[in-house]
Amino acid sequence: MLIFHTISELQTYLRSARKKGLKTGFVPTMGALHKGHVSLLQQAKSYTDITICSIFVNPTQFNDLNDFKKYPVTINADIEKLLGFGTDILFLPSVAEIYPNGTTDLPHFELGFLETVLEGKYRPGHFQGVYQVMNRLLQIVEADDLFMGQKDYQQCMIIQHLIKQENSNTRLHIAPTLREEDGLAMSSRNIRLSDAQRTTAAYIYKALQQMKQQLHQGDLKNIKEAASGLLTYNGFIVDYTELANASTLEPLDNWNGTDPVVALIAAHLGEVRLIDNMVLTH
Ligand code: AMP
Repeated sequence: MLIFHTISELQTYLRSARKKGLKTGFVPTMGALHKGHVSLLQQAKSYTDITICSIFVNPTQFNDLNDFKKYPVTINADIEKLLGFGTDILFLPSVAEIYPNGTTDLPHFELGFLETVLEGKYRPGHFQGVYQVMNRLLQIVEADDLFMGQKDYQQCMIIQHLIKQENSNTRLHIAPTLREEDGLAMSSRNIRLSDAQRTTAAYIYKALQQMKQQLHQGDLKNIKEAASGLLTYNGFIVDYTELANASTLEPLDNWNGTDPVVALIAAHLGEVRLIDNMVLTH
């Protein structure tokens, strides 16, 4: 595996690979790699000739400084994992490499409605940061294919928007969420849970399943409240238990029985904020 710290080294290598007609697959991450990340890398490997993983804890997407400071960094273990799965390139840039003019005064992007709901509402500025870093990374890597996880449902929609907005030629592939045996979605943040919190965390998946079982035409308020109640009862501080249109993320209060539905949850266990989602209709 080649490890590049600078854009110029990476681009020199990729330019010559492209001249040979090789296709590139890109998996951007913030490290603390787990099997969910690995599944993206495996998908990239099966689709393309060269698999590129980036590890960059993007400071501009953290609205909570404490969350940024406590974000797990396990770079040696990450490199071991990447070697084990035949990743071809690891891009490991510094903050100065990605943001040469600093992180203040970055351009503001028009994200419309998507930025006003759910993660956008509870994490002000988060999607500006996601857009900033992904815009930069996509321009640097110019990958043929990009692999991201459905775990971050709204983020995937933001990236679809970015690709369209920036006329990028990169194709986005959305991979299913990998879960632990008890249903908890794999996440780098899970490392920060105590043993007791880790056991309780599975209630997020239970709440999603409950929402799926209870889904019916008409008023959805009771379903959302029941999911929120289940989590609150088990010690979570709930940001949202939402049922939304899976294509637009418009909250659904009354379901007509035909609109595609996604259930989305964000809730805190102690200092750790967890998110998850489940598409309920197809
Ligand atoms: P992160 O390092 O958390 O920024 O995640 C990097 C990529 O991995 C994103 O596209 C995430 O959506 C994806 N990802 C995170 N958790 C999972 C999971 N449990 N299953 C599949 N993909 C995931």
